[in-house]
Amino acid sequence: MSLLAAVCGVVPTEGGVFMRNDPLVSAEMPSKFECFQDGCNFMVRADSDDEVVHLVQEHAQFTHDLTLDDETIAAEIEHG
Ligand SMILES: [Zn+2]
Repeated sequence: MSLLAAVCGVVPTEGGVFMRNDPLVSAEMPSKFECFQDGCNFMVRADSDDEVVHLVQEHAQFTHDLTLDDETIAAEIEHG
């Protein structure tokens, strides 16, 4: 069970999301996003902002039934 699955109560069906929550992989990935919805501890790391934006849009749509635009997500991405 990945961290994402544990904190969101959702087992991801997308292989990419699941793999990116592997701690050995995520340590190499500089772009990080933490979901700002109440009660949601979703966090994703990827090696580019574009990839984070894409993964977060999928999460927001699937988990929160929200459509977020690229700028909203990009503004919340942390690096490091
Ligand atoms: Zn969320």
